[in-house]
Amino acid sequence: MVNAHILSVDVERWSDATLLAGQVQRDVGQPLVRAQTERVLRILAQASVRATFFVLGEVARDNPGLVQEIADHGHEIGCHGWTHDLLADLGRERLEHDLSRARRLLQELSGQPVAAFRAPTWSLDRQAPWAAAVIRQTGFTVDMSIFDGRHGPYGEPISIGRPFRLATSGGDLWEFPTSVRSWSGLRVGGGFYWRVLPRRWVAASYAAKAHPAVGYLHPWEVGRVDWQFPEAVPAGVRFTMTAGVDAFEEKLGWLLSVIPWQRSCDVVESEVVEQWPRLSLSASGLKVVEEGE
Ligand SMILES: [Zn+2]
Repeated sequence: MVNAHILSVDVERWSDATLLAGQVQRDVGQPLVRAQTERVLRILAQASVRATFFVLGEVARDNPGLVQEIADHGHEIGCHGWTHDLLADLGRERLEHDLSRARRLLQELSGQPVAAFRAPTWSLDRQAPWAAAVIRQTGFTVDMSIFDGRHGPYGEPISIGRPFRLATSGGDLWEFPTSVRSWSGLRVGGGFYWRVLPRRWVAASYAAKAHPAVGYLHPWEVGRVDWQFPEAVPAGVRFTMTAGVDAFEEKLGWLLSVIPWQRSCDVVESEVVEQWPRLSLSASGLKVVEEGE
């Protein structure tokens, strides 16, 4: 029986979405990110829910008071990288530099240890298996960077469908797959799926889980569409980013009230992680190297 699932918020600008790469300047959404994040803080406070906030280094640098504000609400501060680039595109040296720099800044601004990491666009996969060791070596112990299943350019199928230890040359990471398989096999981890799928269907998918699962959202997804796309952005991308946004505040409030949520640090404290199955990641995917209990 699960006490609660992990709620996570990726604090980034709307213009950081990988779907928009090459079509808008990354920092166009900068003036909106603080108000959008404060909207999420208000909704979580109303529901008395604490979450893990993965903050992008560039957003922390440009909104220094924001990180403290999130921490003051009782949320856990996690790291979403320095820029919103895929791990494979950064390469080992740049990733090491970026993660050290981002973790240091987030710890300074929040006054709390930063243990959890989420890669932009779930890009910890077979295209960047070396990145797991870099994440561990730069001080992170919890990772939520793997999307269970293939989804366009990202994702890595996880046969065991539950949290596990990810073996790296620098030690193990506690890995929480960021997606939830529903009865139909569809992944309903958060964001777009939460905005468009029937709410009871989403809630039932979480209720059926035997282990802590993860939900995610972005500050730009909640409340209203308060930005404008350049004309060249295709209709499909516009739909994916805006469908259900205007009605999501109320729906999110409901999901927060019927599904129990907690921060990743709460789960790590309450679980006997040493007994989790242990997997390794290589260019051919994830493989079980040790069965759990
Ligand atoms: Zn992101």
